[in-house]
Amino acid sequence: MPSLTRAEAAARAELLRVSAYHVDLDLSAARDSATFGSTTTVRFSCTRPGSSTFAELRATSIVAARLNGAPLPAEAYADGRLQLTDLRADNELVVHAEMPYSNTGEGLHKFTDPEDGEVYLYAKAGQTFAPDIFACFDQPDLKATIRLAVTAPVTAEGDPSRAQWTVLANGAGTQVAPGRWEFADTPVISTYLMTVVAGPYHGRHIVHDGVPLGVYCRRSLAAQLDKDSEELFRITVACLDRYHELFQIRYPFGKYDQVFVPEFPAGAEENPGCVTVREELLFRSAATAVEREFRAMVIAHEMAHMWFGNLVTLRWWDDIWLNESFAEYMGWRVTAEVTEFTGAWTNFAIIRKGWGYTADQLPSTHPVAPEHVETTELARLNFDGISYAKGASVLRQLVAWVGDDAFLRGVRAFFQAHAYGNATLADLLAAISEASGRDLTGWAEAWLRRPQVNTLRPEVTIGPDGRYREVTVVQTAPPAYPTLRPHRIGIGVYDVELRHRVEVALDPVVDGGRTPVPELTGVEAGRLLLLNDGDLTYAKIRFDPASRAELAALLPSMVDPLARALVWSAAMDATRDAELPAVEFMALAMAGLPVETAEAVFDGTLRFAREVVAKKYLRPALRPAAMTELAAACQRALRAASPGSSRQLAAARGLSQCAGLEEVELLAAWLAGRQLPPELTLDADLRWTVLYRLVVIGAAGEAEIAAELDRDPSALGAEHAARCRAAVPSAEAKARAWDTILHDDQSSARLVTAAAEGFWQPEQEQLTEEYVPRYFAEMPAMAARRPSGTARLVARFAFPQYAVSAQTVAAAEAMLAREDISPTLRRVVLDETDELRRALAAREIS
Ligand SMILES: [Zn+2]
Repeated sequence: MPSLTRAEAAARAELLRVSAYHVDLDLSAARDSATFGSTTTVRFSCTRPGSSTFAELRATSIVAARLNGAPLPAEAYADGRLQLTDLRADNELVVHAEMPYSNTGEGLHKFTDPEDGEVYLYAKAGQTFAPDIFACFDQPDLKATIRLAVTAPVTAEGDPSRAQWTVLANGAGTQVAPGRWEFADTPVISTYLMTVVAGPYHGRHIVHDGVPLGVYCRRSLAAQLDKDSEELFRITVACLDRYHELFQIRYPFGKYDQVFVPEFPAGAEENPGCVTVREELLFRSAATAVEREFRAMVIAHEMAHMWFGNLVTLRWWDDIWLNESFAEYMGWRVTAEVTEFTGAWTNFAIIRKGWGYTADQLPSTHPVAPEHVETTELARLNFDGISYAKGASVLRQLVAWVGDDAFLRGVRAFFQAHAYGNATLADLLAAISEASGRDLTGWAEAWLRRPQVNTLRPEVTIGPDGRYREVTVVQTAPPAYPTLRPHRIGIGVYDVELRHRVEVALDPVVDGGRTPVPELTGVEAGRLLLLNDGDLTYAKIRFDPASRAELAALLPSMVDPLARALVWSAAMDATRDAELPAVEFMALAMAGLPVETAEAVFDGTLRFAREVVAKKYLRPALRPAAMTELAAACQRALRAASPGSSRQLAAARGLSQCAGLEEVELLAAWLAGRQLPPELTLDADLRWTVLYRLVVIGAAGEAEIAAELDRDPSALGAEHAARCRAAVPSAEAKARAWDTILHDDQSSARLVTAAAEGFWQPEQEQLTEEYVPRYFAEMPAMAARRPSGTARLVARFAFPQYAVSAQTVAAAEAMLAREDISPTLRRVVLDETDELRRALAAREIS
């Protein structure tokens, strides 16, 4: 089906004004049927009567379609488009269609809970799936009110086998007759923001400041929701109050529900009044403080969208940064400001920003705000570390550059000017320029219109008296993208603690990329000179040779967690750039990890050491010893952690993920309930983590997996089992998993993705060797057949990431030379191949 182009959207926006959708969904047969009924009445005007246009719809069949009362011919519908000709000044289109439920989390997703057989539905319209739910003009700048009515299944009074359904949507709903629900008209919103959620969901409610707040989940997770609802409401309320204060416009969408939904393909979705959240964030097992902090950030992020995105919406998808970068920036900021997670920016620095730096250095890098994104399909590929993490970091830099007051005044003016409408980069810059009195043209060009990350290095001379004689900050850009950027940064002089700090402006127009820092001349030299202290900017940082020589000794005793995060982050990207040998990173990890007290720093560093350095960057002969060392570091952290603490859980997980043959006995004992660290609960997800590792190293197999699935017959248990089964080191298991990855369209996309995640293991290189060429031969057909979101995940996880060799690179290049592969697969393979090249370069120096 063709993807809507920018030119088509612009032409249609010029031609049409859409006033209202009435959508009536018949979900009454949801328990048994593969399709649902969708009837849409849309009223719209046309600026040039007599013209033609089209609406979008992806139906199993169209029962009837009428434009201004006249039936549309069958041939008007093809390829997901309904051609509309001879428009009048005022028009009414009525479409009655049968639509398929989805199993990919996009469109109207249908899930059957294996624990109790109950059926749950939710709609994900963003960013291009509204036509999977109702006939519409699916582009963000044709906003309209949406009035929804739903017929849901009715459970007979006294039927103990099935629970009554609840139906939720953007507006407040009422059950007007058994199973029949009607919802309040939404304010004008974009089609991608429509949602409906239906099933025997369990909910809790409060009202705060006049806004009804609800949280929901499926019934088999009710106890978990009840346990967490106090925390969820506490954070929601704190965020709502803060946004009212910051934005000075009331929350515009009436009630505010947050629904934890099964098999969600992303973190969460910001549907006005009815946010959908991946239900893994309800934490059925013990969660670490880092995970709870992340959940708080997701709550804050989605709520920020009610203003950034929902009240004022991007005109076209080249401005997704207006949505995502702002929500992301606000998410971390407000979490740090008004929740118990005051250290959220450390998490951002060590984990989230790494996602941005990595994405920004891939072949697929793009500007935060690209000037042109041609189709909705290409726009979807830009929901990545650049639009989120880099964009948020760039906004943080903008705040440092213009000051928080001016930034907020600009943002408020932007909301006032464009409420219930659409806006662009230029509109936002104009508002902030006006508020700050600064021309942001050059700033925006360098930061928002140019891709890639620059590097900041200090050049330092120290006199015989131990004082800095001269410090210069040198900025370099990658040769392919030679734009230097203005920065406002902190520079910290550290011993164990910060001893001296200055803030400086780097302005390449003035200094050509070499900024002297006379404020440091005469200051007693520290053991470490840290650029970007406080993490206000977005840049790779490097160390002067004296500081670098001190790192391993100093890092474990540095007091400030954010400073440690910056040092770790710098070490990671130097390793990725093959400037720091992987073995040196491992040495640093051994020194720092066992005593790392900031949990986000522990998690982020351990994950990089294990998943990137040990599994890919070290020569294979060194990997077992590295994993043993990491396991030992986790053991030390585990012994040092207080019983029952979040840190203990993080260390136990870490140990489970690094374990080698030496730890098999211990892990097997854990599973049997013996030798557990005091007060550590081996709950369902931790048990699966342990079992997965045992399976990978050949110490457990199908019998243990089946037994575990008996203990945990939940949907998440099924995903864990699929991942474990794909990881079993036998030819039969690999053949079965490969078949699932390539051909299984009946199972939900989640189960297919889980199989892809488990398939490749560095410990199983010989066993999976034959699948390396098969990936490049067989994935194009998979990607052509499956919906692009699913295809992207499957292609990425199933990529032979541990087959680090020139042959794999050559096979990838040969595939990329084909012209018939989908843009989604091309992007995945291009980027993953770049990662292989980095691994090859790292192996050469380690
Ligand atoms: Zn978002």
